[in-house]
Amino acid sequence: MQARRYRVITLGIVLAVVGAVAPLAVMAYASWQIAIGKELSGLQRQAEDAVERASFTFSDARAALAEVDAANVTPCSPQHIALMRVLTINTVSVEEIGYFEDGKLRCTSWGVTEADIAKPRVDYTTADGVEVSLRILPIVSRGKHMTALHLGNHNVLVTPSRFVDVELGRGISLALFNNSGLLIDGSNDPDISFARQHIDNKVTGIDGERMFASVSGGGVVAVTSEQTSMVYGQLRRELTLFLPVGLFIAAFIVAVVVVFSRGKLSPRAELEFAIHRRQFIVHYQPIIELATGVCVGAEALVRWRQRDGSIVRPDLFIPLAEETGLIMPITDQVVEAVVKDMSAVLASDRGLHIAINLCAADIKSGRFIDMIAEKLQNTDIHNEQIWLEATERGFMDVEAARTNLERARKAGHSVAIDDFGTGYSSLQYLQGLPVDALKIDKSFIDMIGRGTATSSVTLHIIEMAQELGLFAVAEGVETEEQAAYLREHGVSFGQGWLFSKALAAQDFLDFRKTSIAKFGPAPAIIRLVKSI
Ligand code: C2E
Ligand code: CA
Ligand code: CA
Repeated sequence: MQARRYRVITLGIVLAVVGAVAPLAVMAYASWQIAIGKELSGLQRQAEDAVERASFTFSDARAALAEVDAANVTPCSPQHIALMRVLTINTVSVEEIGYFEDGKLRCTSWGVTEADIAKPRVDYTTADGVEVSLRILPIVSRGKHMTALHLGNHNVLVTPSRFVDVELGRGISLALFNNSGLLIDGSNDPDISFARQHIDNKVTGIDGERMFASVSGGGVVAVTSEQTSMVYGQLRRELTLFLPVGLFIAAFIVAVVVVFSRGKLSPRAELEFAIHRRQFIVHYQPIIELATGVCVGAEALVRWRQRDGSIVRPDLFIPLAEETGLIMPITDQVVEAVVKDMSAVLASDRGLHIAINLCAADIKSGRFIDMIAEKLQNTDIHNEQIWLEATERGFMDVEAARTNLERARKAGHSVAIDDFGTGYSSLQYLQGLPVDALKIDKSFIDMIGRGTATSSVTLHIIEMAQELGLFAVAEGVETEEQAAYLREHGVSFGQGWLFSKALAAQDFLDFRKTSIAKFGPAPAIIRLVKSI
């Protein structure tokens, strides 16, 4: 039993720990995933904004270029210069417009140019035919880098930050490339080589210390990124939401485990476990014919043999078994044990019987009759060789008891009232009951020879049995004096330590052999029943 308790407790602790840790771990993991997901989708949104912003700037500038290039004006005429000026003012992205001829700047939105300024080198050409020159240093910009967009004979100067002019979240940096990876501009001090490694359409991810999002469209690619550690703030917010849920689930699981383990450790559960493991064995206490000393049978007394080999006495578990209804499967196992242990000897000696104790519930329900019939099927045991003992508690429902015991007797079993004298049985009450024998309770046998008032009760019980035509079996016979008294007063059978304690099956078989050698075999079973 200790081993099982130990196992239940260990398992309970393991389950409780797992049950407490698992939901917290799951919630922490979920918080982490959600925090990362939110952070990455934030980055992606910013990259999308950046792409939109850059596309707008390009198309805005291109529209101005297209308009001026298509205008029907004399190059560098006052009208031409005026148009360029108007467009510069009206186009947000554009800082200046210039007109080129033969690869040289002729005039700008500021007027005719005297200086010898060549058309800047072209870094790439967009899909809609605009030549882009990145990071050039025109004189007018006074040292600031500009981006020049060239279409037809005109170009516009755009401040590069116009392309990346989006409001970025804290700690987020942005790098904007053209489709072939040329940097157009960055914002918030981006790590350009890191960003370039992650140019890919619609991708978000974590790469070591940094997390990133990359979005392309309109001929540009925007890569936003931030320190991976930025996720901790988000994680904290998610945890305040998810951890209480995890704690609640953990507490629930631990409570369930505790309740379950306690149940498993309850005496009832121990008994259920014993039934499941078939830990019940039967010992046999010889029943002796007092007149001759012949062993005529035995009472089957159940014992609970635990895994460590220790034996638990029935008074320690039968009351609980009766209370919980677990007595029925125990009775079943007792009958099975009797069949297994005693089939051979009962078949070879028809004078021998085994008495089985029934519980009150069995007598009330009558279920035992079919159960015994079923277990005796295909054995060579006669029903007459199985006696049944019923305590007075079984007669609470007199009608049911009468019906069921009558059925049992019709099937051939003899029925004895167990612990007789300890209940309320009156003569009148007994007369109506279908029984064959009385088992006089040990407490009355103990009184024999003591000269107390109870000993006259003993005598009264013996006489009562005789009057009713019932056999009497004296229980708990411990002394020769008691045996002599019982014999003298016509008690047929005795059972007690004077003859033998309850014995293991093989020991009982050995006892019987010795008894036959000394006193001879049991006579044929006299049906105790006179009439039903
Ligand atoms: P019980 O049916 O009255 O069984 C007789 C009890 O008295 C047995 O105790 C037996 O070992 C003990 N006994 C017999 N002779 C002597 C004696 O000379 N001196 C003393 N001091 N005791 C003696 P056990 O085996 O401990 O059984 C106790 C009770 O448990 C039984 O009382 C019976 O009520 C119940 N029981 C035992 N086996 C079963 C069973 O299979 N089913 C049911 N329902 N109850 C059982
Ligand atoms: Ca008994
Ligand atoms: Ca008894």
